[in-house]
Amino acid sequence: MPFSHLGLSPYLLPALQRALQEQGYVQPTPVQQRAVPVIVQGRDVIAMAPTGSGKTAAFVVPLLQQFITRESGAARAVPQLVLVPTRELALQVAETFTALAAHLPRRPKVVVAVGGVSINPQMMELRGGADVLVATPGRLLDLLSHNALSLKQLATLVLDEADRLLDLGFGEELAQILLKVPAKRQTLLFSATFPPAIARLAAAGLRDPQRIEIDSHAEQPEITQRAIRVDSGRRTQLLAHLLRQQGWPRALVFVGSRHGSEVVADKLAKAGVSAAALHGDLSNGRRLRVLQSFRTGEVQVLVATDVAARGIDIVQLPVVVNYDLPRSPADYTHRIGRTGRAGESGLAVSFVSADTEAHLRLIEKRQQLQIEREQVPGFEPQDVAAPAAVADGNGGIKGRRPSKKDRLRAAAAAGTPPAK
Ligand code: AMP
Repeated sequence: MPFSHLGLSPYLLPALQRALQEQGYVQPTPVQQRAVPVIVQGRDVIAMAPTGSGKTAAFVVPLLQQFITRESGAARAVPQLVLVPTRELALQVAETFTALAAHLPRRPKVVVAVGGVSINPQMMELRGGADVLVATPGRLLDLLSHNALSLKQLATLVLDEADRLLDLGFGEELAQILLKVPAKRQTLLFSATFPPAIARLAAAGLRDPQRIEIDSHAEQPEITQRAIRVDSGRRTQLLAHLLRQQGWPRALVFVGSRHGSEVVADKLAKAGVSAAALHGDLSNGRRLRVLQSFRTGEVQVLVATDVAARGIDIVQLPVVVNYDLPRSPADYTHRIGRTGRAGESGLAVSFVSADTEAHLRLIEKRQQLQIEREQVPGFEPQDVAAPAAVADGNGGIKGRRPSKKDRLRAAAAAGTPPAK
């Protein structure tokens, strides 16, 4: 089903389609197919749609149409409000609005209001109102208490990633916000999961919603998982080699520490690869600039820690590299889930050395996976597992002694007869 069959206004369709195409969206995803026609009719929607399903455009496209057809409101008025759990998501949602509005006859004024940064610029920006406000709940309440905006004319409220909003403890703030918005409004709730708390939130905030559930199995993107054996000291060279040889246009590379992300980004830069570090010590402004330059392709490789990368979403990310293996099997899943979005296929490559082999096996066991070990010509590993590393819990498994097989394998790698 093409975008032209979603009930969008024929006057706006060419402009919207052009922008969708520029984003590389050829066909609507299932959640877009089902949500857009209902939202343009003004109905409330409760959609079970995980990140990666294309849920953002599923509400942005109809909201843009509503923006164009609405008369402008009073000063400080905000007709469209999107509540999100994190600042990264706020920026992505705002970017989607801006990108998809690129060819409309009028562009909406989109304001982002999130915590962790000074409130004053946000108050200034909200002077004269905004067509769309994308906010985290706490900062929105702060702004309301400063009288920086009015929600009296709110027409559409979106609760994006509602389950994460509740997980992050925003339940109380949401309840307060629901008391401050007009009863007559359209409410759209997007959530990856449907715990009872979400059902209660929906019952309190939505009117006769259309329920949309997307079969998450049908939506599973195809992610190829590979593991390459390489000595720790040669990982950067191997990465630079793979970037060139495989022609990866961009890659998200995971490392285990803030310091590590700086070091690897530096080494890559020295090897002639445009790379930038993303970690929790960077200032807000710096993080945004780094993410932006990665999105625009100015930076080819983003070297990130798990925490810094949480919640970021990059269009068409073909490759994720585990330069350092993740600490936990759950982190492994989160990391590789950054590739293969919206039905595209993706690739996750893990570097594994003699010292981290046991840890990767643990991840495989927990995830019921078996990933074949590969070697890249010219980068065959020489190192043997250090006995301490196998048993120290840092990359290895605590209390596990090398088995006979391990000793044989290590000896074979070193070209020496096995120790008895
Ligand atoms: P979301 O679920 O909104 O976080 O979107 C996941 C990713 O899919 C984002 O990178 C979007 O840019 C991308 N995307 C959204 N809609 C489409 C579409 N119709 N075709 C291809 N990619 C899409």
